[in-house]
Amino acid sequence: MDLYEYQGRDLFERHGLPVLAGGVAETPEEARAIAERLGGRVVVKAQVKVGGRGKAGGVKLADGPEETVARATDILGMDIKGHTVHKVMLAETADILEEYYFSYLLDRANRTFLCIASVAGGMDIEQVAAETPERVAKVAIDANKGVDVATAKEIVAKAQFPAEVADEIIEIAIKLWRAFVAEDATLVEVNPLAKVASGRVLLLDAKITLDENAGFRHPDHEALVDQSAVDPLEQAAKAKDLNYVKLDGQVGIIGNGAGLVMSTLDVVAYAGERHGNVKPANFLDIGGGASAAVMANGLEIVLSDPSVKSVFVNVFGGITACDEVANGIIQALALLEQRGEAVTKPLVVRLDGNNAEAGRAILDGAANPLVERVDTMDGAAERAAELAAAGV
Ligand code: GDP
Ligand code: MN
Repeated sequence: MDLYEYQGRDLFERHGLPVLAGGVAETPEEARAIAERLGGRVVVKAQVKVGGRGKAGGVKLADGPEETVARATDILGMDIKGHTVHKVMLAETADILEEYYFSYLLDRANRTFLCIASVAGGMDIEQVAAETPERVAKVAIDANKGVDVATAKEIVAKAQFPAEVADEIIEIAIKLWRAFVAEDATLVEVNPLAKVASGRVLLLDAKITLDENAGFRHPDHEALVDQSAVDPLEQAAKAKDLNYVKLDGQVGIIGNGAGLVMSTLDVVAYAGERHGNVKPANFLDIGGGASAAVMANGLEIVLSDPSVKSVFVNVFGGITACDEVANGIIQALALLEQRGEAVTKPLVVRLDGNNAEAGRAILDGAANPLVERVDTMDGAAERAAELAAAGV
């Protein structure tokens, strides 16, 4: 989960890192109230989860509440690289003397954590990294050791931070690492980490990614989720503990096992090219041992997507026996009818693997006119795409 800058700023503050006072506003009037509280000059910053806001005109200085209202009015509603600005962060301003770059991230390729730091931070860091990579220091962080004074000194030396800020950067490096670990982050990026006129070093931007797999350790992270950006179907699926991702096609997909579902998306997209370019409408992995209840929940979510015109249920029986899955499908359809959500869209079911014959016999026996059985994955994908195209 990516955080907004204002959430990152709060997180830094909670971990004792030096940030400037700030607040977040959704309207110019809210911005005014915060500017009045902060007093004097403020910086008005677009809150979108994308970089390059400064260059896009999403970061502006304002002298006092009136100007803050004007700048907030300009920035709210702006489009930055396809992201509409719904919130602005207001913060005290700093007289920036130097802009540095500092980040910790999970370096999957090298199976380690990594610190990237540069004295040439600011809005052109990408260019610096591309043209003068020697100005960007990289220090691998041992997960067991973390960032102690020695490692922090190594970072400072490698990145060639000036002597007058070395002590502050060492302290920040250590605290920032503690925050990174404590919050189960996979990225904390500070650009700029700025040396300001008072001589202090401050964290003036925050880009943070939290590891959702560690969410169980962080009940407080739930509150950081931007509900307005969550797809309602994905939200409903999450509430039912389903592994569901909304896509923008017309063929609903239900399968068992993430790998099988992924390849189902591919064959459906491929078959769709021959049928008016219909595409998969979702990813839904109901996992092993899918019960009728799970199948019903899955069908309910997939069928409630108005863009779904047909559903492809693709099951390869391994530990799960196909006869149980077939019973699950029949019971699920009955269950949905009981819930008053009678199914009206066609289902193409492919059963293979463990007890496939018995499963197919159950489907045939039930003779539900909406359920079609096709025994190969390619054939079923073809039929589901054809039905979706006919229903569009
Ligand atoms: P980004 O472009 O999306 O990374 O947004 P930043 O938060 O990094 O802001 C872009 C630039 O605005 C920074 O590199 C600074 O030069 C400038 N900036 C940000 N906050 C302040 C501030 O408080 N005072 C001043 N003078 N400049 C700021
Ligand atoms: Mn930045």
